[in-house]
Amino acid sequence: MIPYGRQSIDDSDIQAVVDTLRSDWLTQGPKVQQFEEALAAYCGVKYAVALSNGTAALHAAYFAAGLKTGDEFITTPLTFAATATAGLWQGATPVFADIDPATGNLDPRAAEAKITSKTRALVPVDFAGRPADLDAFRKTAQDHGLLLIEDACHSLGADDHGRRIGSIADMTAFSFHPVKPITTGEGGAVLTNDAALRDKMIEFRMHGIRRGEDWMYSVESQGQNYRLTDLQCALGLSQLKRLDAFIAKRRDVARRYNAAFKTWGELEPQPGRIEDSAWHLYVIRLRGKLATKRQEVFQALRKNGIGVQVHYIPVYWHPLYEKLGYRHGLCPKAEAFYESAISLPIFPDLTPAQQDEVIQTLRRVLDESCAAIPAEG
Ligand SMILES: *Cc1c(COP(=O)(O)O)cnc(C)c1O
Repeated sequence: MIPYGRQSIDDSDIQAVVDTLRSDWLTQGPKVQQFEEALAAYCGVKYAVALSNGTAALHAAYFAAGLKTGDEFITTPLTFAATATAGLWQGATPVFADIDPATGNLDPRAAEAKITSKTRALVPVDFAGRPADLDAFRKTAQDHGLLLIEDACHSLGADDHGRRIGSIADMTAFSFHPVKPITTGEGGAVLTNDAALRDKMIEFRMHGIRRGEDWMYSVESQGQNYRLTDLQCALGLSQLKRLDAFIAKRRDVARRYNAAFKTWGELEPQPGRIEDSAWHLYVIRLRGKLATKRQEVFQALRKNGIGVQVHYIPVYWHPLYEKLGYRHGLCPKAEAFYESAISLPIFPDLTPAQQDEVIQTLRRVLDESCAAIPAEG
């Protein structure tokens, strides 16, 4: 099975981890700060805080933002559930606004319409690696005195009008899970230019501890153990050197898919210019009646060795959110997007032969599914 995403690990990555295994520090050592400094430099930001995964990164950002019971934050339903659930940990209420179907990203006007006196933060997600409309969100955040927290788990290495992702929002959260732009196994980080926010996240990452003289330390807040190890940071440092090459390869895959699908009427390719996205995902949407065959198409692709996925089940459809009172129909555009979407394999080491296999298998499966749709009249 060709997976929809996977890591690329080479000898330089392996050597970096082995060297760290032989060093004095497996965790809380020098690699953590080196990785943070390299990330911050890459993104053109003052500070990076490494955390144990992308969910912990979002949680730390929400903590630093001061989200608490009674507060609301506005986000998209077309994301991994952690974007919203990490806010529940702070007692805050996620408010879902609808997407722009052209991109899959949170629609700034739909988000603005959901602002109330309880809103504290806007949390757009860079769906599939394409930056959300950050200028619009920034302006709305400024107009209403809100924090802009960007879930950039898909978009490390992407640019937005010449600015690196990570340098635009008040806080930007990244994930280093193996399917993401770079990996540390599990891992994450938050980038910010604000020293006070950075300090809060560092405290939160280590049990809410502030250090004093000699053996003294004090637990100041209800922190977590969300540290990233030196082994992981060594891998991250090595992967970061390869990031631009990873993105170039992902863009090659996207170009090849776009060229193949240009004349296929049954599906809408992932929209957007190649250089506008980090291409974490390549999501096709089935058009017209074929959308009713999404499950069949999905199953046939899987049966034929193409490890497709679906991104995403609208977050508020999950039982946890149903129990909290969210209902189907809340964001109709996100629901329609979900219902016709299939994510094709895209990752740096996907070979041209594998790309051809994806294209040819999809062509065959679509022909069979279209033949099964009764003609009109
Ligand atoms: C992967 C992901 C997360 C969570 O990251 P983990 O490292 O798996 O905890 C959050 N939001 C989005 C959009 C993601 O893709």
